[in-house]
Amino acid sequence: MSIVGIDLGTTNSLISVFTDDGPKLIPNALGDYLTPSAVGLSDKGQVLVGQAAKDRLVTHPALTQARFKRYMGTNWSQKLGRKHYRAEDLSALVLGSLKRDAENYLGETVERAIISVPAYFNDTQRKATMAAGQIAGLKVERLINEPTAAALAYGLNDKDRESTFLVVDLGGGTFDVSILEMFDGVMEVRASAGDAFLGGEDFTDIVTKYFAEKLSPKQASKLDKMSAKKAAMLRDLADQAKAKLSSEHEVSFKFIDDKSVEQTLSLTRAKFEEISEGLLKKLRHPIQRAVMDAGLRAENIDQVVLVGGATRMPVVRSLIARMFKTFPVHNLNPDHVIAMGAAVQAGLVSRHKALDDVVMTDVCPFTLGTELSIEVAKGHHEDGHFQPIIERNTVIPVSRSVVNYTMQKGQTSIDLRIFQGEAPRVDNNVYLGQVNIPIPKNMKKHEAVDIRFTYDVSGVLEVLVKVLSTEKTNRLIIEGNPGALSKSEIDARFKALDKLKIHPRDETVNAAFMARLAKSYENHLGDARKDIQYLIGVFEAALARQNKHEISEARDEIEPHLQAYEDRSIF
Ligand code: ADP
Ligand code: MG
Repeated sequence: MSIVGIDLGTTNSLISVFTDDGPKLIPNALGDYLTPSAVGLSDKGQVLVGQAAKDRLVTHPALTQARFKRYMGTNWSQKLGRKHYRAEDLSALVLGSLKRDAENYLGETVERAIISVPAYFNDTQRKATMAAGQIAGLKVERLINEPTAAALAYGLNDKDRESTFLVVDLGGGTFDVSILEMFDGVMEVRASAGDAFLGGEDFTDIVTKYFAEKLSPKQASKLDKMSAKKAAMLRDLADQAKAKLSSEHEVSFKFIDDKSVEQTLSLTRAKFEEISEGLLKKLRHPIQRAVMDAGLRAENIDQVVLVGGATRMPVVRSLIARMFKTFPVHNLNPDHVIAMGAAVQAGLVSRHKALDDVVMTDVCPFTLGTELSIEVAKGHHEDGHFQPIIERNTVIPVSRSVVNYTMQKGQTSIDLRIFQGEAPRVDNNVYLGQVNIPIPKNMKKHEAVDIRFTYDVSGVLEVLVKVLSTEKTNRLIIEGNPGALSKSEIDARFKALDKLKIHPRDETVNAAFMARLAKSYENHLGDARKDIQYLIGVFEAALARQNKHEISEARDEIEPHLQAYEDRSIF
């Protein structure tokens, strides 16, 4: 039974498998490798995932959700139809759709998966990703850091070379930078940094805002005043314009404004680069931090690897080229790299013979430690300081210990609180749990305790606290996190999602085609609109006859006309 690799992205998700010929991407029902991470309800109340849902973001914004990866592990939830969905639920629906695509392609049940997560995801977000997998009926064998997966995809191409490389992944909503070293087939992550709130979508937002201001120069907040549908339409067109500017120097599109007037909007590459300057500045910091954390200088980097759809923007490429005085490599498709690497990891876990000589180590992506009281003046203690025990970027599995003393003589217990994060005060870090340690009453001396942290590859933290005078040990396994789903909650979500009506996979092509037609209808006026309405009528009639052959013929017939209308709205 195969283990699949999954890149669960903010914008797009992919599924892959490791074969005798290496990593292979699996196409979805539309024949695409990229499945937009969008979930919606059809007019019949069925759950739609992927391109059809993405297109319906424009026509049915209230019935569609996207960009929910940002909320993994939080209490955020959104209404879709009559039910509320958390980010884990929506992700589970995407995972379920990918699972069905893989099952269709492989001709077998798929139950085990490797899922990639941004290196910067904290423990709560990682557990939420595992939960999403479980809700979708997948056993998540392991999570893999996205940059590690990217390096793994590239590393295998060039196994005999020793090199230090920097992976820069600018996806839709996250930015990840990692420094990896490859030596004798061993791949080690030396440092990772990033920004969980920076991605290609932010560039789209800036372009959208720019166009909104163009439409109505007097009202800067025009976007807020637009109807949800209009705003979604403008954003969709801005997104296409942004992508087109990666290969062209100027782009224009037609937009029907609130008063049903058709407006032409344009943007040059130079202007785009000017308005995105603030975002470009934000890209530099995590890159510099990763290089510094690894104890390197820019000139020590042998290769710069580009990952993520947003690295297609020439301005991002030249920024990186300037920083490293070298041209980044991108011989693998930047959209596919992570899924390819996840498949390699799946091959490693299933001990595929082609991967015998590859070993890989990973790092703990964040610092783990405890709260500490510090004596700020004689006899005066201040709580709330953070004591790191396992530092960020330590190679895992790892076990580290420190010895702490009781604050007062005669103290009979210690409440040890455990945190994750990089801030000097625990209040600004993520609380993971606590353990109470009984201490024998000792009026003469301060008692000593040995605190040992052990962190393994699957992200489980074991805390052992030993009172040195009695050798008594307390143990804590960190599982319960704020916002994280408990096992019974996961089971309940699994059952609830299982009851949803999922749009049949073999009708996905038709649903996506209809969504495209409807979106095009929204983007036009007058005769063009009438024309598209006629095409919709033709397609609906074919659907009503329920003959597969006729339906596919109708699609083929309509396709060139629809394509022509799509080209007419953006040029
Ligand atoms: P994620 O990993 O977050 O799912 P992807 O790696 O799929 O994201 O990248 C998606 C982002 O890449 C989106 O913001 C999309 O607009 C952007 N993108 C895709 N193609 C291009 C392009 N040709 N030019 C500029 N941006 C692009
Ligand atoms: Mg990605």
